Amino acid sequence: MRNEDSSGTSAVALSIVVPCFDEEAVLAQTYARLRALRERLVARGKISPRSEIVFVDDGSRDNTWLMIQEWARCGQSVVGVKLSRNCGHQNALLAGMTSASGDAVVTIDADLQDDENAIEPMIDAYRDGCEVVYGVRAARDADTWFKRGSARTFYRLMAALGVNTVFDHADYRLLSQKAVRYLAQFTEANLFLRGVVPLLGMRSTVVHYDRRPRMAGESKYPLAKMIEFAINGITSFSVRPLRVITALGFVLCLGCLALAAWAVVVRLTSDHAVPGWASTILPIYFLGGVQLFCLGVLGEYIGKIYVES
Ligand code: UDP
Ligand code: MG
Repeated sequence: MRNEDSSGTSAVALSIVVPCFDEEAVLAQTYARLRALRERLVARGKISPRSEIVFVDDGSRDNTWLMIQEWARCGQSVVGVKLSRNCGHQNALLAGMTSASGDAVVTIDADLQDDENAIEPMIDAYRDGCEVVYGVRAARDADTWFKRGSARTFYRLMAALGVNTVFDHADYRLLSQKAVRYLAQFTEANLFLRGVVPLLGMRSTVVHYDRRPRMAGESKYPLAKMIEFAINGITSFSVRPLRVITALGFVLCLGCLALAAWAVVVRLTSDHAVPGWASTILPIYFLGGVQLFCLGVLGEYIGKIYVES
């Protein structure tokens, strides 16, 4: 639903969702910039005065929540959501999106590494009928080589495993209220939004922007969290690792049969055959291969159950 503003054109009520985990160092700057953007867009009639900024405190241990509370008390356009503990970036995003009241919901990181000015073209795309608009990083020179390399390897791996994700798109995106409603129907315990959103199958487009360095504070995604996030994404959307196990078991069995044939040939054609070698070693390899293969088959069924549920 879109409301009418005073000029008679349809202005979108926008909700900007910002997940925050220990972000006191950067949050005041972020709020100032998002507020300025909101005022600019409202003045130009692009978004309605009902537009809001939704800060989600993901169990911060610093003054983040105090700051959010203060702004929510003073300005009508700020909404604060507090999670009882650190539930992770993805869950914080979902909590913010489902609490947002706008016609369109944009999610953006608290450090404003993703250029907030791309929100305007996102709104244009939404007005053109897109339900999902992905922010895609055109340049990410500002990231360290490690972050850039690991992220790109991850996107390639996901593509190789057959998971439908958008290359160089993180969690900077616009969703219509309808898309958020559909998204909320996925009651995933291990949420991986970059995999789930393309599954919605709604009309979508991309908007490019340049990625900047973090304005202040430190990354809340240390290596351990990044690996956990990647494993979660892969195991939630792909059964290919299971297939690899099955194939490995199969190849091992085949190799054993070839070895057995070779042992027979050696026994028949020469007198180098070591007594007891074939009967001891080959069954070990062969049974190992059979077990791997069976594990893969079991896994295949478990994968089916997972996909069904
Ligand atoms: N974040 C969160 N919960 C967490 C970790 C991070 O809400 O457990 C938020 C964080 O406050 C930021 C966003 O997720 O708004 C992205 O984190 P960050 O910028 O530290 O990640 P990076 O850009 O280094 O990947
Ligand atoms: Mg960041």
